[in-house]
Amino acid sequence: MAGIETLFTNATLADGSLKDIGVAGGRIVSIEPAGAAPRASATVDIAGALLVPAFVEGHIHLDTSFYGDKWIPHKACTNGFDVHERVAFQAENMAQAAPMDERARKQLELCVANGSLQMRSHVMVDGSVGLKLLETILKIREEYRDIIEIQLVAFPQNGILKSPGTPELLDEAIALGADLVGGLDPASFDRDLQGHLDVVFGVAEKRGVGVDIHLHDFGSLGAFTVEEICVRTAALGMQGKVAISHAYGLGDLDPDSARRIGAKIAKAGVSIMTNAPGDHVFPPVALLRSEGVTIFSGSDNIRDSWWPYGDGDMLSRAMMIGYRSGFYTDDELTAAFDVVTTAGAKALGLEGYGIALGGKADFVTLAAEHLPEAVVAVPKPRRVFKAGRLVAENGMVAR
Ligand SMILES: [Zn+2]
Repeated sequence: MAGIETLFTNATLADGSLKDIGVAGGRIVSIEPAGAAPRASATVDIAGALLVPAFVEGHIHLDTSFYGDKWIPHKACTNGFDVHERVAFQAENMAQAAPMDERARKQLELCVANGSLQMRSHVMVDGSVGLKLLETILKIREEYRDIIEIQLVAFPQNGILKSPGTPELLDEAIALGADLVGGLDPASFDRDLQGHLDVVFGVAEKRGVGVDIHLHDFGSLGAFTVEEICVRTAALGMQGKVAISHAYGLGDLDPDSARRIGAKIAKAGVSIMTNAPGDHVFPPVALLRSEGVTIFSGSDNIRDSWWPYGDGDMLSRAMMIGYRSGFYTDDELTAAFDVVTTAGAKALGLEGYGIALGGKADFVTLAAEHLPEAVVAVPKPRRVFKAGRLVAENGMVAR
């Protein structure tokens, strides 16, 4: 096998086989039964550990986490979950937090150390903060380009129509380097579903980029908004480029209604992000997958103004999704793993993802016999390789 730069030996793959994996130029160039491949100039012994593609952190907020900063106690809403009130708490907390670049770096390293090498982060862009948070996160993205690939969503945390100047700022954000246009509860926050979506899809169409909208609305309002986003996606031929994050309302539907709307979501090529959120209802993962919907996941908030939880570990996120979904069989547990890996790659439109010939050599080793065990046990000893190079071990980014 000519041209192998590094041979990763004795890797257990998801199908249970023991393989040697050859890497050159950051790509997988050979997958042979263990011992069958000729020695390469460099060899890394995986020693029988499970080797899986790096995790996809599909939804996080690099700008608003307090991870690694001083502990900021959670403030409860005064009368049930209220997005407006939470945004106000966030503004108070951000004013006393450590500099954003320091916090973002700590959060990024936490994610990489846990095995995420592909990420989509939302970053606030609206009339209250302008483009300054995005400018900082763009610099951080450059700093970490060799170890993690990051998509940025221009996220109007204070609404689009309610926050003067935001439509223009979203457009400028894309010109500056953001990859997708975000949105926030078009009906309940801005009180204008169509007006909000006009801006989001207008900028996306003009700039030729994707969309990822936060949708916390419950019940029929949430479901109706999902349908409207699907209609717009199909009309603009944006299948595969639009995601709805949270979509709590899908968790309020009876199974027949959920199946009907699931078929529409699948047909429109819209992906749904869920993080198995605390005590909220959330989309029925198995039912929607059976309808062909791409469900992906992310940590979302890690120790921020929305909740104190989060560990930056997409494998523990898979466990939470499986736990809350009542996943017990091996097939179900494997589906939970898929949500944080292959389905995430599909939702983010990633090229060369997976343990396959020609794929990027971005992988993680786990002390588990197979995927179902990895999901329930969440083993922590890991080695993380980006383009075939060790980037993290024992919970620390390699320097
Ligand atoms: Zn979010």
